[in-house]
Amino acid sequence: MALRRELHRRGLRYRVQYSIVDRRRRHDIVFTRARVVVEVRGCFWHACPTHGTFPKANAQWWADKLQGNRERDQRTDDLLRQAGWTVVIVWEHENAEGAAERVATAIEDIRG
Ligand SMILES: [Zn+2]
Repeated sequence: MALRRELHRRGLRYRVQYSIVDRRRRHDIVFTRARVVVEVRGCFWHACPTHGTFPKANAQWWADKLQGNRERDQRTDDLLRQAGWTVVIVWEHENAEGAAERVATAIEDIRG
């Protein structure tokens, strides 16, 4: 994945597929020492506000399904923040350099 490569290129080291508050959920990129978690979200499955789309066939089922995903994302983010983690959300459509910059800034802010 381009974002992981970009973070690595900047000398940032992280764990992948790491569980924090919910053993059933694994996070894509986790900086354990800084307590920063990067959630990479696919535009379709996580109903991106810019280009999330709802399929026309079985529209209601999809609306419920995608809404459920969004609510689950929100609950997970809340749990993480309550546990003292910084959550950086990156959408699939973002370019890797810009996203890596945001992650790097979050980590630098924490390190002081
Ligand atoms: Zn998107």
